[in-house]
Amino acid sequence: MPNAISIHPSVDKGIKAGAKDFAGGTLVCKCARNPVRVTVKSQCAYNHVCGCTKCWKPAGALFSMVAVVPRDKLSVTENADKLAVVDANAPIHRYACKGCGVHVYGRIENTKHPFYGFDFIHPELSPETGWAAPEFAAFVSSIIEAGADPANQNAVRARLREIGLEPYDCLSPALMDAIATHTAKASGVLKG
Ligand SMILES: [Zn+2]
Ligand SMILES: [Zn+2]
Repeated sequence: MPNAISIHPSVDKGIKAGAKDFAGGTLVCKCARNPVRVTVKSQCAYNHVCGCTKCWKPAGALFSMVAVVPRDKLSVTENADKLAVVDANAPIHRYACKGCGVHVYGRIENTKHPFYGFDFIHPELSPETGWAAPEFAAFVSSIIEAGADPANQNAVRARLREIGLEPYDCLSPALMDAIATHTAKASGVLKG
């Protein structure tokens, strides 16, 4: 029986590997007229599916797909006036289109934040193919906060493993270690 759980349209039919020399593309919101366009001059990193309630998800998907790029490689090139920050108090300022609601990119302004210097993008908004493939699933338990049935969590985790996305209930070990290292250096516990 085919597994009917829709994780995200970009991974439900299997994961496509990224292209080796891929150097970026253009993110486009869903507006039929005058869409916002964001130019990214870089491959993305740490692509993953995310179950948190803050990330923008396409209709019907349990997870978002989100990755980072260096902030100096990202610029809004068309219709920037349609963008508004969803929550200015959140560590990530998610810029949503006032026309269609899509989050076109997210930016961290706090220079002390562990991920300062990275912008967050949803690679699916780009018509180009070749973006680095998603590597893991983050904040899997959080989909319950968005209304998912807790009784289905085992099936969701099984489906994620079947696709090749190891499920975590926070970020991946590599990213959790990076955050802890940043914190330990900031407090002086870790030197160098
Ligand atoms: Zn739009
Ligand atoms: Zn998220």
